[in-house]
Amino acid sequence: MTSNKKLLILPGDGIGPEVMRQVRRVIDWFDQRRAVSFDLSEGLVGGAAIDAQGVPLTDETMAQAMAVDAVLLGAVGGPKWDALPFERKPERGLLRLRKEMDLFANLRPALVFDALADASSLKTDLVRGLDMMIVRELTGGVYFGSPRGIETLPDGTRRGINTQVYTSPEIQRVARVAFDLARLRRKQVCSVEKANVMESGILWREEVQAVHDADYADIQLSHMYADNCAMQLVRQPKQFDVIVTDNLFGDLLSDCAAMLTGSLGMLPSASLGAADASGRRRALYEPVHGTAPDIAGKDMANPLATLLSFAMLLRYSLNLGDDADLIERAVQKVLAGGLRTADIVTPGATKVSTSGMGDAILGELDKLAA
Ligand code: NAD
Repeated sequence: MTSNKKLLILPGDGIGPEVMRQVRRVIDWFDQRRAVSFDLSEGLVGGAAIDAQGVPLTDETMAQAMAVDAVLLGAVGGPKWDALPFERKPERGLLRLRKEMDLFANLRPALVFDALADASSLKTDLVRGLDMMIVRELTGGVYFGSPRGIETLPDGTRRGINTQVYTSPEIQRVARVAFDLARLRRKQVCSVEKANVMESGILWREEVQAVHDADYADIQLSHMYADNCAMQLVRQPKQFDVIVTDNLFGDLLSDCAAMLTGSLGMLPSASLGAADASGRRRALYEPVHGTAPDIAGKDMANPLATLLSFAMLLRYSLNLGDDADLIERAVQKVLAGGLRTADIVTPGATKVSTSGMGDAILGELDKLAA
């Protein structure tokens, strides 16, 4: 019996609250019907926090995020707050969470549900059954390295500088996340860099190999250059199980892999931090999409990206793989039954609202658990 898992829910702005409302219904279902029970708290982040509390994330909410087993977030931002100075913008709330929770590993699955295989821009047989995961290093590399800046040389020429830099512990810890994930999946990791032209890539390759040889001999490890990986993702994406890569290459490759699945409204993500002495990792789960101001408040948004983020939370923070499977099977069944929100509707399918999709998922969960 697992019990009283502490979750902090931060719905945020725009469609965040309306998609989260449907996910709350599913969380309540698990609370009542399965062995797990939750100790839920809800807080404000982003524009909603600015309006009510004057800042995009209060110290109290930050402290709660540090204390819980996992945080589930909707999305932040919107036109209402666009004119605010950079340090007071809604996004600062999210950046503060990522920074203070030290979320160094970003997990982006690319999972193609059979019923949506047609939505991909690739041929259906290339993506049908696709189930891969990109682990992107999130707190190091060229986006943070110094020196950085734009300088003017004595002859008036301007020079822009960024520095790609990684230390061995930074590489080792994200490699461990990838190997641990692979153990829950098909036991294959492909490590991606540009060791042919970058010293940081050589170090990346050596460190990942060393972690593998020391502790993960049961995992099949391969290495690939990032340009080849981009090509392979659109040529033969099903060859991959887990890809681990740095911040810059991960940024590009995870967006490319995401689009293999066809729809923003279906894409979950997780960001993991270091494990504490008891083995508990700080973790934040959120959909890849933003606040979709164009459809906010219209009961049109697809709640499945946030729901699938909750499934990731069950699997990776609470070790409840069977419960996560249940959600993924319910999503599969609902889509196979032809129900779609507007973003993924196809000819012949039945269009449902955000709450209609919530009803359908709960109905499937009842059937699957019966
Ligand atoms: P967006 O993801 O909000 O929307 C892009 C398009 O996809 C829109 O047409 C939208 O209607 C559609 N869409 C997105 N999610 C959907 C869903 N669940 N169901 C149906 N359709 C969906 O990106 P954007 O328009 O570039 O940004 C809007 C706001 O969101 C901005 O303020 C931006 O800063 C913010 N944003 C926040 C996050 C985050 O919180 N992590 C991420 C991206 C953008």
